Amino acid sequence: MSRLAPVAVLALGLPALLADAAHAQAAPEVTVAPLPEAQVEAQPGFSLLAPPQSLRPQDRPEGLARPEALARADEIPARPQDPETRMIARAVIGMLSSTDSERASEIDMALASAAALTPEPERALISFLPGGEEALASAPDGSLRPRARPEGLAPAASPVAWYDTPDQPCAAAEGFPDPDIRRNAASFAADGDLCITRQGFSEHGRDWQLTVVRNLSTRRGPVWAVLHDNENAAFDAALYAVSKYGGALVAVEAGENRSFMGQDPNRNFALTAATAATCRDISQKPTPGFTNAISGFFSQRYPVLTLHNNDDGYSGAGGAGTISARRSSASMTGLMTPNPVPGLSDEDNAILLAGAQPLDQNRSARKAVQAFHGAGVNVIYEHVRPERNDCSFSFFTTMSGLGEYYNIEAQHGALQAQKAMVDVLMSYLRIASLW
Ligand SMILES: [Zn+2]
Repeated sequence: MSRLAPVAVLALGLPALLADAAHAQAAPEVTVAPLPEAQVEAQPGFSLLAPPQSLRPQDRPEGLARPEALARADEIPARPQDPETRMIARAVIGMLSSTDSERASEIDMALASAAALTPEPERALISFLPGGEEALASAPDGSLRPRARPEGLAPAASPVAWYDTPDQPCAAAEGFPDPDIRRNAASFAADGDLCITRQGFSEHGRDWQLTVVRNLSTRRGPVWAVLHDNENAAFDAALYAVSKYGGALVAVEAGENRSFMGQDPNRNFALTAATAATCRDISQKPTPGFTNAISGFFSQRYPVLTLHNNDDGYSGAGGAGTISARRSSASMTGLMTPNPVPGLSDEDNAILLAGAQPLDQNRSARKAVQAFHGAGVNVIYEHVRPERNDCSFSFFTTMSGLGEYYNIEAQHGALQAQKAMVDVLMSYLRIASLW
């Protein structure tokens, strides 16, 4: 690992992340029937949606001032019972809770944006947030709109049926209904700050379940998506990242399979029928519930981070379907490192970047390529063009302005290489290790 240390610490093009604070609010009209309460409770082994409070450390560090808005407990509104309201609030709080205090102006802007874009009944929830009441006060009638809602996107409405239970505690690794968690029981035993929860929602007849692991020792941190349940090294590397760098991971539970009820999760991102039109695998239906559920975990402060595993050689999976840094295709440019490191620089191991421009026009991507190459890490650059949209997360992230996108790809089982790439990427993004 130490030989990776000299990776250049370069400034990241964060402004791109901040291009659109309104994306999280956007959702088209969609009708999804909520699960009846009784049905939810009857599901064996099914647990609960983490309440927003679980995003925060359970013990606030001494010396950290408690914001005014949170100190007045008697003024905190009761938890709304409407699932849609909770969903919207959860997305907003999730976005903001991982925003760094040193970027206070960005927090304010996001809060103001959320306040301006949030209908009256949901606004009370914003007052939960540090600075939230001020943001509401400055936008009392919704007239303050620091950032325009993206054109073509309908106002937020009935995004998805979430089912949850208030005050969900952290679950024990032992006996948790996910082999990925149980396989890592030793890691959870060693790091008491890791909080496991289960979340779920229904869309198009699929009862999606997510395994979520948060690091409670930090209020904020990078978030990782693990979309393919059969990719065990990707999950384990994500857990390593959450323990070491804070933040959270969200993993799709699909019975350890790549697809869930016939749907590849990484071909399931589309807010509208129009954007889904080119996606063969999405059954002609947009998936705002799934799309908002996953993207709601990501903040503006950090890039969108994912991990995948692929098969040996050229018959890979994910992205355009063929992952190898030795190959280039119409959408992918493979860039093998000129400084190979044994065990790390195999053609199947690479950091995949996505951008709306060709690589030669994307300065921040070329900077990243240079840094990763210097550390012995291969790069694959994906040129995202809407007419080629396959409803993968890289396309959705890039097309919707969710943030910069980094996908750490490693061959199945190549956990050490995948962890090493996590360290290289964190160093490049200047995200400090907790230990
Ligand atoms: Zn995958």
